[in-house]
Parts: sequence; C-alpha cells; structure tokens
Amino acid sequence: MKRYLIFAIFFFVYASTVYAQQKSFTVIPLGVKGGRDESNLSSYMLAAKGTSNFICLDAGTLHTGIQKAIDSGLFAQSLSSVLRNNIKGYFISHPHLDHLAGLIINSPDDSAKAIYALPFCIDVLKNNYFTWKSWANFGNEGDKPALGKYHYIALTETKEIAAENTNLFVTPFLLSHSTPGQSTAFLVRHDDAYLLYLGDTGADEVEKTNKLKILWQSIAPLVKEKKLKAIFIEVSFPNQQAEKLLFGHLTPKLLMQEMHVLSGLAGNEAMKGLPVVITHIKPNGDNEAMIREQVIFANDLGLKIIFPQQAKMLEF
Ligand SMILES: [Zn+2]
Ligand SMILES: [Zn+2]
Repeated sequence: MKRYLIFAIFFFVYASTVYAQQKSFTVIPLGVKGGRDESNLSSYMLAAKGTSNFICLDAGTLHTGIQKAIDSGLFAQSLSSVLRNNIKGYFISHPHLDHLAGLIINSPDDSAKAIYALPFCIDVLKNNYFTWKSWANFGNEGDKPALGKYHYIALTETKEIAAENTNLFVTPFLLSHSTPGQSTAFLVRHDDAYLLYLGDTGADEVEKTNKLKILWQSIAPLVKEKKLKAIFIEVSFPNQQAEKLLFGHLTPKLLMQEMHVLSGLAGNEAMKGLPVVITHIKPNGDNEAMIREQVIFANDLGLKIIFPQQAKMLEF
C-alpha cells in the first residue's frame, strides 16, 4: 500500500511538472525584419502545438521563409504544399507592404483560404492591391472579375473569431501606427492558452492615444493567471531615433515604458519570465546590435526577451 502511495505521489509531482512545462503553440517565423531585406519581412506561422494547421500572422515574406524552414527540416513537404495546405488563413495587421507583399506575390500559387483583417485593412487590399491594376484580383470582392481564391473576413474589434480549419481563435485589437495610421494586435487562443501578436505600433505617449492601454487592460488578467504564453511586439528603432522620425514605431525605451504599464495592471511577479519576442527591427546601420543591447539593458522586469530568427521554430 505504502509503495502505491509513494508511486502516486511521484506520479502527481511528475505530472504537474510536465503540465507546467507543457507548450501550447508552435511558431515558425517566415520573416522577422521591419524593412530593407525583402526576403525577411514580418510573417509568423502559428499553430496549436502538435497540429500542422497554421495561421499566418502578417505575410511580408512567405516564399523564402518557407524554403528555409524546409531546408532546416521543419517541414517534410514541398514549398508549394506548405503554402497551399499548411497555411489555413492570413491575419493581416495593417496594409503596409512589409506585412503583405509575400501574400500578394505568392497568390497565383496559393490555395483557397481566408484573409482576416479589420475593415480599414481589407479596404486597402481590395482598393489598392487586388485591383487588376496592381495585381490580379484574387479576392472575392472589388474590381471585376473577382477570382475569389481568397475570401475576406472583416473582423470586429475585441470580438473573438474562429480561424477556419484550425483549432485557433483570434481576437483583434486596434493599434495606433503614426496617427491617424492604424494597425492591429491579434490575441490568439487555443483552449485556455493565449499568445499576443502586435503589428506595427507606436507608444501611447507618442501617438497621443490609449490604444495600448486598452490592450494591456484586456490582457492583464491573462498575464496574471499565466495563461498568456508570449507577446510578439515590435522594436523598430534604437533609442537614439528622434521622436519625430519614429513614424508609429517603438524603441527599447518605449517598449519598456509600455511593459511597465502592463506590469502595473498585472503585477510585477506575473511579468517575470514572460516571453517577449522582439519583432520588426529595421536593419539599418548598427540598429540591430544597438536594439539588442538596449532592450536587454532596459529589461528591469525580468521579461524573457527573445530575438526571433527566420525559420527557427519557437514553442510557447
Ligand atoms: Zn512594418
Ligand atoms: Zn507599418
């Protein structure tokens, strides 16, 4: 009897450690930078761990990212098969080219699927890109003939939607990207686990808005309960960048200012070890090295800072 009891206790301890370490999401970055190199622009494939049904958060670069992921053994299929079968839909944060050029260029080879975005972003896809003047209209709305390969799904702010053919659910939040420019954060849920991806964003103080404050208020309870597994957020420029030249982007200092707002809502303890993935570095001059150094130096909250690399898988 005693032996069974010891076994039961051992098993319970083992099971709870495994549970604590259990990962919920797989992320394959297809592109991580915020400019210049067109083969490595913002795009993140995301799936519930153990499944191969991904959504794509932004689509600046697709082709090169998928090819590199295949080369490093993350997919056994062909490039065409990953594009057509593994990406079940696109969530586009805002219509700047570095967030959707890959989607447009690869559209002739893609399969039928959904493009999800807030209405301001769908309008630009419909009226400026898939127009026959810029590119063939692979959308299901806009200039005739509409080929209908992609169907637009207009999101509603703060309203969760199921991502078709995946077991992921997504809630969009509006961001400010050089007022009156707009962008989107996507809160992705699988079961009871969450991951937050922000498209380009300025800081509230600089943008003279409260968009990030509203976002932090919404996710603070998830941070507190350890249900939020990671935050993907941009840092485009080093601290030296003049404020009038930020164009709706963050620096290491502004990132930490915003993380402190979140910490004020969620509590310092909950922030310790929270994975924060730094996206959208503009790779000009020494920016990359400076941003790395400045983010690590400014991290007085004990955040787990991660610099993603193209085609290097992350698990949360
Ligand atoms: Zn961008
Ligand atoms: Zn942008």
